[in-house]
Amino acid sequence: MAPVDIAHGRPHLWRMTKPPLRILLAAPRGFCAGVVRAIDIVERALALYGAPVYVRHEIVHNKFVVDDLKAKGAIFVDELDEIPPGDRPVVFSAHGVPKSVPEAATARHMFQLDATCPLVTKVHMEAQRHHAEGCEIILIGHQNHPEVIGTMGQLPPGAVRLIETVADADSIAVKDPEKLAYVTQTTLSVDDTKDVIAALQRRFPGIKGPYKEDICYATTNRQEAVKEIAGRIELLLVVGAPNSSNSKRLVEVGLRHGTPRSLLVQRASELDWPSLQGLSTLGITAGASAPELLVNEIIDAFRAHYEVTVETVTLREENVTFKLPRELREAPAPL
Ligand code: SF4
Repeated sequence: MAPVDIAHGRPHLWRMTKPPLRILLAAPRGFCAGVVRAIDIVERALALYGAPVYVRHEIVHNKFVVDDLKAKGAIFVDELDEIPPGDRPVVFSAHGVPKSVPEAATARHMFQLDATCPLVTKVHMEAQRHHAEGCEIILIGHQNHPEVIGTMGQLPPGAVRLIETVADADSIAVKDPEKLAYVTQTTLSVDDTKDVIAALQRRFPGIKGPYKEDICYATTNRQEAVKEIAGRIELLLVVGAPNSSNSKRLVEVGLRHGTPRSLLVQRASELDWPSLQGLSTLGITAGASAPELLVNEIIDAFRAHYEVTVETVTLREENVTFKLPRELREAPAPL
């Protein structure tokens, strides 16, 4: 029962003192230029052509983003054959698609909009260049990730070999060590990938690589920003989805660089408060497909339990933007 203020005969409102919590907010975090562009493509297609707009696979790996686009009229499908005949646009996700997908869409005269991130397309083009030069290609990446499926699908079956670890690099048998090249997924751990590349280079000194590394600026910056705060926090929360490669890597980077606990969280409603008591310093970052709104939602949830102060730790500014596909740039602005 609430204590009673004797003098006035009404419940006394205790001024509960909440414990202080310092939140270090890593920057850069959250949306990258490829994700912004992919979401813009779906939204602009909806504005220009009306609903529905079909999207093959999650446009980016974030349920909140996908649900928001669904509410605006996007329909997400796993494969093109789920889309009925007609003139509706179909958007390919930011992770890229095997060549067979646009080929099938063209055969069906579909109106295609490609939201593949230009930095993924760069990897596709490298793989094609190495293949044209007669090289066998080793792709460093995670099996079954849509980006890996898309990159392998740029070339005929068998042309690209997937490896994930240093042990794989140490054991892979190649056709001709003098005709060998590697490419990587864009969202890998920078540190792990260096080790895998070093192992390949030890075994195959002539192996060709990218002119500029394949792990993208956004992945690199978010990992480096976590390293900046990792040794100063008791817990790192990474706002992101369980199927988001770059978000999962941020959890690992935190643990490896001095954070005792590191967790992936999608929404504030998932926070397990009994395990979040007694904190004094918390780090927060967000994967490249997580909207800032979800970061703010989580900070607000902590305000209910702690007296929060937020300090942004900025590693570097980002100012990368990517153009929309020509079809959308040249279309008249929606009314
Ligand atoms: Fe492009 Fe990198 Fe963003 Fe992936 S994480 S969409 S490669 S900028």
